Amino acid sequence: MLKNKLLSIVVPVYNEALILSAFNQRLCAVLDTLDCSSEIVYVNDGSTDDSAKLLHTLHLNDARVAIVDLSRNFGKEIALSAGLDHANGDAIVVIDSDLQDPPELIPVLLQHWQKGYDIVYAKRSSRAGETWFKKLSAYLFYRLLHKISPLQIPVDTGDFRLLSRRTVDALKQLRETHRFMKGLFTWIGFPQIAVPYERDPRFAGKSKWNYWKLWNLAIEGITSFSIAPLKFATYLGSITALGSFIYALIIIYKTLVFGEPVAGYPSLMVVILFLGGIQLLTLGIIGEYLGRTFVETKQRPLYFVKNYSPATL
Ligand code: UDP
Ligand code: MG
Repeated sequence: MLKNKLLSIVVPVYNEALILSAFNQRLCAVLDTLDCSSEIVYVNDGSTDDSAKLLHTLHLNDARVAIVDLSRNFGKEIALSAGLDHANGDAIVVIDSDLQDPPELIPVLLQHWQKGYDIVYAKRSSRAGETWFKKLSAYLFYRLLHKISPLQIPVDTGDFRLLSRRTVDALKQLRETHRFMKGLFTWIGFPQIAVPYERDPRFAGKSKWNYWKLWNLAIEGITSFSIAPLKFATYLGSITALGSFIYALIIIYKTLVFGEPVAGYPSLMVVILFLGGIQLLTLGIIGEYLGRTFVETKQRPLYFVKNYSPATL
């Protein structure tokens, strides 16, 4: 059944010179066992190490290897989109190049695709080699997102997944600059299924993510798929206003009935600071959304390609 089908593997690469050849070997070993033909689309996301050179060698030695060389570092989400734009397969697998996602799982993903699922995503049942803080923050983030977003973004799921042709065509129509791919994968719909797997530690090299970037990705995820924070601002404002009104009535009553002298400096200070804090917080929330609207209205292209070397199948 797989005969005559083309499988594309999309791999974002940013400074992975230490791993690339090991990754390519392991991936090819898996692809060789498959009945279908395949292409590997490496997206060089502006690497500053030897990755570009290594990729070029891989391209020369293997007709299956395609390279999309971006004009600079655009970040993983956009690198992924660039890869999907250049993939020709009937099924497309998205995988990290650091061997955290085992290529050996690809045949299993394919089996589910043949059963008719459009998106087969790999769900982590363990995350070896990651700190408890990262595990805890990831756990909390996914659950929070679940709560406040109308989308049911699957928990404990990275980008490692198989996509059918029609879902990739759907994704290609979503051209927003602020991209939270995990959310977009879910937003487009289509039959989806999870496959559990053990996430390995990074094979070599360092994760490109630090906590500041993860924090920003988390804000991206929330603001791209939920306007709950804006509602939170409204409710916080309403509750504070109501509270202040009641408090004002109490003060007026006390002054009229008991003739109480003016209350002291500390209470005044607390109220001013509290209100000031809330105002700045809500302004900040509005600003997050306004800033995103600003960026989106420019409608710039997502990325630029410096060189494209297609697979020579
Ligand atoms: N990556 C990328 N552009 C970037 C950062 C990362 O293409 O700006 C790639 C990286 O080469 C790897 C994948 O995205 O293939 C996942 O990156 P990493 O392992 O650093 O993230 P983590 O697994 O820690 O989430
Ligand atoms: Mg990784």
